[in-house]
This record gives sequence, C-alpha cells and structure tokens, in this order.
Amino acid sequence: MECSVFIGNDTRGQALAEHYFGVSKNYHDTLLVSVHNGAGAGIIVNGQVFLGYNRNVGEIGHIQIDPLGKKCSCGNFGCLETVASNPAIIEHAQQLLAQGHESMLQGKKDLNVSDICRAAVAGDELARQVLVKVGNHLGKAIAMTINLFNPQQVVISGEITEAKSVVFPAIQRCVENQSLRTFHQNLPIVAAGLSTTPTLGAFALVKRAMLNGALLQRLLED
Ligand SMILES: [Zn+2]
Repeated sequence: MECSVFIGNDTRGQALAEHYFGVSKNYHDTLLVSVHNGAGAGIIVNGQVFLGYNRNVGEIGHIQIDPLGKKCSCGNFGCLETVASNPAIIEHAQQLLAQGHESMLQGKKDLNVSDICRAAVAGDELARQVLVKVGNHLGKAIAMTINLFNPQQVVISGEITEAKSVVFPAIQRCVENQSLRTFHQNLPIVAAGLSTTPTLGAFALVKRAMLNGALLQRLLED
C-alpha cells in the first residue's frame, strides 16, 4: 500500500478535516472546493467522505466550462481548472499586465495569487476582474454540484479566499442563478478554516479509516 493512499486526494482529506475539526462540524452533507494547482472537490455525505468505487470522485476541476477553452492536462478542452487554478489565475493576470493595463501589480516580480488577492481587496480593477472571472467559473461548477448533491454547506479553500469579498459574491450569484432554489436557499458558502494546515487532511483520512472498518479494508486492499 502506498503512502499516497492516505494523503490520497488531499481535497477529500481536507473536507473531512473541516468536518471533524473545522467550519463543517455542524453539518453532515458538505461540499468543499479547493483551488490550488488544479481544482478539486471533497464531498461529505451523511458525515462520511464520498469515495466512489475506486476513490475517484470529486473531479470538479474537469467539468467543462468552455468548449473552446484551453487544452487541459486531462486532454479535454476548457475544463474548470484551465481557468480556476492558481497557475491559470496568475497567467491571466500576467497576460492583462503584459497588454499594459493599469494596475498596482505592474512590475511585480514573482506574481502569486496572494498578491492578486491583496490588490483586488485594495480595489485594483485588473485584479478584481481576474478574480471575479474565477468566481464566475467556479460558481457555475459549484451550482451543478449543488444540484447533484444538495449539500448543507459549501466550503471554498485556497489562496483565492484571501479575496473573499471579491470572489464569494461572484460564486453566490452563479449559485443563485444556476442551481435549484430550494437547494441554495440558506446555503452557507464559507472559506475553509484549516487550509493553512494541509497535514490535517491526511490525519482525518487516517482517523476515518481507523473508525470505519469497511474503508480501512478498502485502503488495505490497494
Ligand atoms: Zn480536464
């Protein structure tokens, strides 16, 4: 058995960690969407991490957002993570900066997502537009997932939450327009509480495996 089974899909571990220790403690059905080098989802159903037959679920990053979009690492075109991932966010900002648009980020070296978030919160129009676009794309994929799973809470994780005031309203608008009313009414969309402690995710998966014999067995079968 490889160690990666435990660390596994970090996003699922993170969803579980939030369920045990974080912002999702009071919910049984939650959806955690993480934007990092890619985009992934961790789904908690009835207090259990939703694993699927061979643990491959929650590939929200490969929901097609734009049929004419960029080629994705998976071979398809225009997947969510081609527009909503840290590298995609940085690339989009760099393109706009290279075109000469006015921004406090002009001339910034080693641009990262935190820089873009700080600028957006400070009112920088270029940074705001980049992040609102990300929020719109994420919101579209999240709305689809809400229609499928009807979660009690949606948790967003990743550096983009540093610009919560910019990104979340965009997500909220899409969710309100694109998912079922009865599903999104009173649906909290919150930032992850534990995103700065990634090892907790692995810990929660291990803990769950120990509590749940069936899951432990499945892990050991690998
Ligand atoms: Zn893809």
